[in-house]
Amino acid sequence: MNTVVNSRLESSRRRGPALDVAVVGGGMVGAAAALALARAGISTALVEARAPAPWSVHDDVDLRVVGLAPSSVALLDELGVWTSIRTSRASPYAHMHVWDAASGASIHFDAADEGRDLLGYIVENNLVQWQLWQALDAAGVRRLCPAQVSAYEVLEDRVQLSLSGDAEAVSARLLVAADGAASPLRAMAGIATEGRDYAQRGVVAHVRTERPHDGTAWQRFIDTGPLALLPLADGRSSIVWSLPEDEAQRVLALDDEAFFQALGVASDFRLGRIVGATARAAFPLRLQLAETYQAERFVLLGDAAHAVHPLAGQGVNLGLRDVAELRATLVAARDAGSDIAAPHVLRRYTRRRRSADTLDALGFDALARIYGWQAPPLVAARGLGVRLIDKLSPIKRRLAEHAAGL
Ligand SMILES: Cc1cc2nc3c(=O)[nH]c(=O)nc-3n(C[C@H](O)[C@H](O)[C@H](O)COP(=O)(O)OP(=O)(O)OC[C@H]3O[C@@H](n4cnc5c(N)ncnc54)[C@H](O)[C@@H]3O)c2cc1C
Repeated sequence: MNTVVNSRLESSRRRGPALDVAVVGGGMVGAAAALALARAGISTALVEARAPAPWSVHDDVDLRVVGLAPSSVALLDELGVWTSIRTSRASPYAHMHVWDAASGASIHFDAADEGRDLLGYIVENNLVQWQLWQALDAAGVRRLCPAQVSAYEVLEDRVQLSLSGDAEAVSARLLVAADGAASPLRAMAGIATEGRDYAQRGVVAHVRTERPHDGTAWQRFIDTGPLALLPLADGRSSIVWSLPEDEAQRVLALDDEAFFQALGVASDFRLGRIVGATARAAFPLRLQLAETYQAERFVLLGDAAHAVHPLAGQGVNLGLRDVAELRATLVAARDAGSDIAAPHVLRRYTRRRRSADTLDALGFDALARIYGWQAPPLVAARGLGVRLIDKLSPIKRRLAEHAAGL
């Protein structure tokens, strides 16, 4: 079991000059953080256990896709990678239609109502990660991959990382953990999490439907959980079907014809019959919030800090907002001549992001609970609420702006 040795050692024990920041975890969030910080003139290393596989347009669309909100697109654009992502394979969508199986109530978001062309883009996780990795060298990020952090030691003015494998040791003023929901670094730092296991899995696949998706993200709330059909550029839809564990296992095991029929029924045949599908996979769903985002010379970001229900499609968008806030915080500290890892500096990042992420995470959780109501009076109340929101344009606009990160 790895442990943190939190001690003050004499300067004679320090090895080599420290970088400003070491980011651990090179998924979408960690890679974006390393690139954003390096571009801002903050010397940065990126430590990642597994190098991402090269993305190719000749490969089928990867099963893991995300809906990128305008705030995320703006950050990726600023980092100089958005054009390559968009021209490689990204699917814009201008509408979102959400409806409730039990009450029949629905809500429709239209980008034009918000004075925008689009609500967002559906993109493959590995395409975003790959394009970010392509930009790291030119930005001067020191890549340490494959390498895993086995322990770290907090010294007076830096953090010393011990890496497994052949990788050399590295030290930095600040350690940024973007190592995913299971975050080994969060455990090493002794930061606890709170939340709940939804006892659900998100079944994912890309499906071909009888009718076109019309550039619309569709989501139907069913008593077993939400089903999303996200529009892909090649005309297929990518499904995220949240189901109780045993139901998810059953759906994974169905033969193709039975799966097409079950999914057709679950989607209320909104896009007609299902006529083709890729292999299926499933991911466990949990709500998980770190009790704090900081420790000594240490911060959390991305899924290491917060994992949310995919019903709002916001997980990575929250992570990229963490990146923008961390960069603003560290640049302001540096420009003011402060230590970028001073507790008051890290508190600013924690205060801003933890409260925003908590509100969102609890909001998505509340939605999951409200849509879990089965009793007829509660279903009727929910239907009334949804119909009201659909009619009240200021509230609807606020919801759309919030989802867009505006
Ligand atoms: C079914 C499903 C659907 C989703 N849909 C959406 C959506 O539509 N929109 C959206 O915004 N989000 C969505 N999400 C959430 C989104 O996928 C995540 O929020 C996002 O992938 C998190 O990125 P990350 O970089 O924080 O973590 P990860 O992608 O988990 O990356 C962590 C990285 O850290 C590395 N690592 C771990 N430990 C170490 C170590 N000790 N040393 C070195 N490296 C290490 C790992 O190899 C990995 O590369 C969905 C999630 C699920 C499950």
